[in-house]
Amino acid sequence: MKQSRSYDFLIIGAGIAGLNLAWQLEKMQKSFLILDNTGEHKSSIVAAGMFNPISGKRMTVNWRVNELLASLHQTFTDFKTLLGQDYLIPASIVQSFGNTKESNDFSIQLEKANFSQFVSSTQGEIKGLNQDFGSFEVMGSGWVKTKEWISDFQNYLMEQGKLERCKADWKDIVWQNGTWNWQDLHVNKVVSCEGYQYQENPHFNWLPFKLCKGQVLHIRCADLNKEYILKKGVYLVHQFDDVYKVGATYEWDFEDEKPNEEGKMNLIDKLDKLLTLPYSILSQDSGIRPTTRDRAAILGEHPAIKNLYCFNGLGTKGMLQAPFLAKHLLEAIYNHSEIDAKVDIKRFYSFYSSSQNE
Ligand SMILES: Cc1cc2nc3c(=O)[nH]c(=O)nc-3n(C[C@H](O)[C@H](O)[C@H](O)COP(=O)(O)OP(=O)(O)OC[C@H]3O[C@@H](n4cnc5c(N)ncnc54)[C@H](O)[C@@H]3O)c2cc1C
Repeated sequence: MKQSRSYDFLIIGAGIAGLNLAWQLEKMQKSFLILDNTGEHKSSIVAAGMFNPISGKRMTVNWRVNELLASLHQTFTDFKTLLGQDYLIPASIVQSFGNTKESNDFSIQLEKANFSQFVSSTQGEIKGLNQDFGSFEVMGSGWVKTKEWISDFQNYLMEQGKLERCKADWKDIVWQNGTWNWQDLHVNKVVSCEGYQYQENPHFNWLPFKLCKGQVLHIRCADLNKEYILKKGVYLVHQFDDVYKVGATYEWDFEDEKPNEEGKMNLIDKLDKLLTLPYSILSQDSGIRPTTRDRAAILGEHPAIKNLYCFNGLGTKGMLQAPFLAKHLLEAIYNHSEIDAKVDIKRFYSFYSSSQNE
């Protein structure tokens, strides 16, 4: 007879969220199993993996940015030791202004101390970048070789018997006799890290996500300075040799998750305004960002079901936020510390109540 297995955690989803949670659990010596189905349009696989302390058109400094950056760097120092690779590439972002208004807005922001610690004026001309309206440089930024890291860490977890490739059907995950049960497994806590597929989870499908499709291109372009991330309408992140990722589109209304001609033309149009060097297009890809109504992540326990948690809503900033938030959630679970109100699932509990009255 097959013996049953007992774990502290069952994690559903091995994207940026689930893998960061798994790593924090590993560090805490907690046992877990993570289930993940494969799919080509997963946000985490498509992502450029960029992290940027400054965000949005209004150029504001990110929420708890120093803690986010510290956790991110610590996590990828850990992964260098564990997996033998430097996945995190520090790189300044050189951002070109699109018009005079953007340049003026920047000058106003520059007077704020917390903004100016991350930016400086660009030193001279950057080859290949259209700087007609000037540009500035963001420091403390960079990118993570996300696809390689996900593949390597998933393989590591599979070899350890801690990751299984399958689609979890929530009908089969049941609470019985004080534990969650799935097949031969008994676990204390279950965490949904399902990204945009939260829709198929009957326990969390009431959450107010506003999903955002993104498309990217891979291009070849010679003679660019590979040490910089270039940005003007779109970004250009070096991948290998003369290959760069160009992204991304932000599509709030979309029919499916696949790349399409419209997305490609949108990116080319912006790329032509950014690049002053010739390039060729190699491939196109797409994914769905788990973006929320208020653009903040969602962390915490289900309003009515104990020991069932959500770690989702990473939106456009999964890489920067996930290491810190994974730790933040576990501190709330084990130390009973407060989850920051900005990301606490409690802010959406009224949506659950409404869904129950329908
Ligand atoms: C084009 C594009 C570019 C981006 N660029 C950046 C960037 O430069 N920097 C940045 O920080 N962010 C970027 N993002 C956003 C980033 O990708 C997301 O914030 C992040 O990937 C979300 O991770 P996740 O783990 O929550 O979701 P996902 O990546 O969707 O992962 C969820 C995982 O759960 C699995 N899953 C779901 N349901 C089940 C189930 N029932 N059973 C088993 N497995 C399940 C899925 O297969 C998947 O592997 C970008 C996104 C896109 C689309």
